[in-house]
Amino acid sequence: MPDLVLEAESIHKSYGHGAGRFDALKGVSLRIGRGESVAIVGKSGSGKSTLMHILALLDAPDQGALLVEGADAATLGAAEIHRLRNRDFGFVFQQFFLVPDASVLENVVLPLKIAGVGKRERTERGMAALRALELDDKARNRATDLSGGQKQRAVIARALVGEPTVIFADEPTGNLDSVTGGVVEDILFELNRTKGITLVIVTHDLELAARCDRQIHLRDGLEVAPELEAVAA
Ligand code: ADP
Ligand code: MG
Repeated sequence: MPDLVLEAESIHKSYGHGAGRFDALKGVSLRIGRGESVAIVGKSGSGKSTLMHILALLDAPDQGALLVEGADAATLGAAEIHRLRNRDFGFVFQQFFLVPDASVLENVVLPLKIAGVGKRERTERGMAALRALELDDKARNRATDLSGGQKQRAVIARALVGEPTVIFADEPTGNLDSVTGGVVEDILFELNRTKGITLVIVTHDLELAARCDRQIHLRDGLEVAPELEAVAA
């Protein structure tokens, strides 16, 4: 029996109502094991981000089941979902989502603050995460003063600070030049290798997808065989 971190069973998700209704996911099932790196690929609008948001408990499916570490998300209350997400998941998004006027350290320790961790421990763990990303010398800088690559490293430090079991990354290198993007990729795969952190990466970068253990190809809200997805792209 493999050690599954995420199990999705026939996930459906629609946006809008009536004639304006759009079925973004039409029955997607998948299983992701602990320590795996999985790419979710497909052309724009195929439902990648929608799927990732559901897997990461940022949104709920209309139909279908999601199990996180064996727990059925539908049976969990909002507070439990929030705690699970904060404890088990780290997020790396293309648009950074850093608080511009806060310091780099303040941004990185935000998940710990939300979790109620005391200030002293927050600072220790935040600085350790920044050291791991070679950003500790920027701890007191404002987040806006960082370069694009430094911002994304700060986002990874923030994703790491809670010691997550899964890092969800949505187009993590989409706003970066190829050299800086390569550095960010290397960091993510290093975390996967050395700490066993499961990676779920949404991307339309085929080279990045190929670095993952496995690729899930989406087309019009359904998983398809790779050759079909390639035809659509
Ligand atoms: P991808 O990440 O693969 O580009 P998304 O999951 O973001 O695809 O979107 C899938 C489809 O759902 C797209 O056609 C998009 O326009 C639509 N969609 C996504 N979010 C919303 C929303 N909040 N309201 C309405 N339609 C949405
Ligand atoms: Mg997307």
